[in-house]
Amino acid sequence: MTTYLPKYAQAAVPRYTSYPPATQFHEGVGGREYQSWLGEIDAGDTLSLYVHIPFCQTLCWYCGCHTTVPNSSERALDYVEALKTEIMRVGKHVSRSAKVVHLHFGGGTPNYLPPETLAEIIEGLMEQFSFSAETEISIEVDPRSLSREHIKTLTRYGKVRVSMGVQDVSSDVQQLINRIQSFDLVRVVVDQLREAGVDSINMDLMYGLPGQSVDHVRKSASMAASLEPDRFAVFGYAHVPWFKKHQRAIDEALLPEGQERMDQAEAARGTLIEHGYEPIGIDHFAKPDDPLFKAYRDGHLRRNFQGYTVDPASALIGFGASSIGSFEEGYIQNEPHIGKYKEALGRGELPVARGVMVSEADRRTRAVIERLMCDFEVDLQEMTDGVRCGTSTYLLVMSALEPLRKDGLVDIDQLVVRATQKGRPYIRNIAACFDMGLGQGEQRFSRVV
Ligand code: SF4
Repeated sequence: MTTYLPKYAQAAVPRYTSYPPATQFHEGVGGREYQSWLGEIDAGDTLSLYVHIPFCQTLCWYCGCHTTVPNSSERALDYVEALKTEIMRVGKHVSRSAKVVHLHFGGGTPNYLPPETLAEIIEGLMEQFSFSAETEISIEVDPRSLSREHIKTLTRYGKVRVSMGVQDVSSDVQQLINRIQSFDLVRVVVDQLREAGVDSINMDLMYGLPGQSVDHVRKSASMAASLEPDRFAVFGYAHVPWFKKHQRAIDEALLPEGQERMDQAEAARGTLIEHGYEPIGIDHFAKPDDPLFKAYRDGHLRRNFQGYTVDPASALIGFGASSIGSFEEGYIQNEPHIGKYKEALGRGELPVARGVMVSEADRRTRAVIERLMCDFEVDLQEMTDGVRCGTSTYLLVMSALEPLRKDGLVDIDQLVVRATQKGRPYIRNIAACFDMGLGQGEQRFSRVV
């Protein structure tokens, strides 16, 4: 049994999908910096594109995404017009010789849009950027509104990966989270995807939901695994009603706490392993022949805003309200408010709200944290090009790690820092010891377990 250690499990630390984390973005970095970073992308570079669709048919009460339920389909179509303007405007600054290796649609529910509208967005991107037969298209879908036409449209443009929310298969839990989705429907959608030749299917499962028990989690993981998707992501519900107001609909008295949450995470993990899936990082699972597991095994796994990935791109360009772009020089985030996003585009600007420059020291920390989050260990000598053991940063990191070492969460062998088995669930706490910026800016992190 994994030990629940409240002082670490309840700590609010970043998920480290970026470094510095998004809470350190500020308005001092904006359109001017973004334009210059786009201009730095050159012929040898590979690109990843992210398109955010902030609309859903109904709101799941646990949702932590940037989304809304529009009161008319015109609102979504207006948004798509703005998106197309943004694609053209950004495309003008980027070299056509940089190759797009990956296009990801996230949300929200990208398949909220009709298939022909998704096709228009893809074609708009293809006009501005260099796609090839190797470009992979991945999309987050809500199986309740995915049609055969959606699938057929997407597969016209290349290799497709689909990620779908399953969360919990039991109707009592589904009622408590306002997401009613029969397992038969999930089965039908999986069959349709396979018939259409979709290369890879991921399912999301959750623990820590209201009314959920270890048995619920085990049953959900087992039934979902019986459909043999290629990958799973298993997330703990983050209850942040001060930030996501719709979560107030969730009855807090029904939320599992403490060791129960940890047992649920363990139940999901154990069940998926029994079904032949390999654990990857803190929350992913894949079949042994899946590229994600191979990358993990070979030490090439990456971590970005979508979680664990094999995406090798040098730069990530985000489109749509709230999307984040990642560049060697820094990060940039678009205006999250849909109205303001459209207004900025109407004024002829790039719709940027904030960002952060990445210094040389940040880049070193980013590399160390990424390896820890992916491999559970890091060799500081390799990662930092010869860390100087006398430096004040090194001494600060070692003193921050000392209590975790005493609690048996981490081993330190010369310059190799390695999470123990007991420490693996707390890898975010270990990574936080390297984060000298933690404590700056607005804090909105979820707890570790
Ligand atoms: S479908 Fe996904 S994005 Fe939309 S409300 Fe539910 S969890 Fe959030």
